Amino acid sequence: MFTITPVRAFADNYIWVLQQGTGALAVDPGEAAPLIAFLEHGGLALQGILITHHHADHCGGLAELLQRWPQARVYGPATISGVNQPVAEGGRIDWQGYQFEVLALPGHTLDHLAYYGHGQLFCGDTLFGAGCGRLFEGSPAQMLASLDKLAALPDTTRFYPAHEYTLSNLKFALAVEPDNDEIQLRQLLDQKQIAMGLPTLPTELGLEKTTNPFMRCSKPAVQQQASRQAGQALQDRLQVFTVLREWKNNFR
Ligand SMILES: [Zn+2]
Repeated sequence: MFTITPVRAFADNYIWVLQQGTGALAVDPGEAAPLIAFLEHGGLALQGILITHHHADHCGGLAELLQRWPQARVYGPATISGVNQPVAEGGRIDWQGYQFEVLALPGHTLDHLAYYGHGQLFCGDTLFGAGCGRLFEGSPAQMLASLDKLAALPDTTRFYPAHEYTLSNLKFALAVEPDNDEIQLRQLLDQKQIAMGLPTLPTELGLEKTTNPFMRCSKPAVQQQASRQAGQALQDRLQVFTVLREWKNNFR
């Protein structure tokens, strides 16, 4: 089985690097330099790249990486410059005999994809630890449907988001559900991780279902708090999701 290592980029991005032997597959290289340093240090060749969406902090390193490894296969939305293996919902990727499936997850952007295989999911800016991506292009209904699609995967699926946002998301999660013990415990554990200089990621779907407010829109406690926020009684999941997402946009 391949190993998966986070390479830090910018202020809080992770470039996840899958490694098998001397070959590597990288996810969302927003900048090339830290990835090149990691690959050189390990004597690795970049065989492939997975791109989740068009934002520069996810694909900005492509040109430089392709100069260095021109034969690398770059999978992603067809409209992104540098993608030489365009993929969409239902597409399949083979890397060193490992298969990954492409999931379309519109919401954060309309072109957003995720890559799923071997119990691992590379989800870009759709789901974060205890949170979800902002809606830059898609509607709340699209994002909720995308999160529902992820929620249907096995609970043991490991999620690899592209940003370290977990602690600030947990603060919001506690504002939504102050009495949720699972969120309190997760905050303690993740504070320790960060204090030790370690990532809080990957996360597991099962944990997100108990601590991520955006995956809990049908829970009575979440509905009540969203209703308080909206000043009207909300029961519809989409209304609850919409209020939570708006609230989080302005939450400090
Ligand atoms: Zn983004």
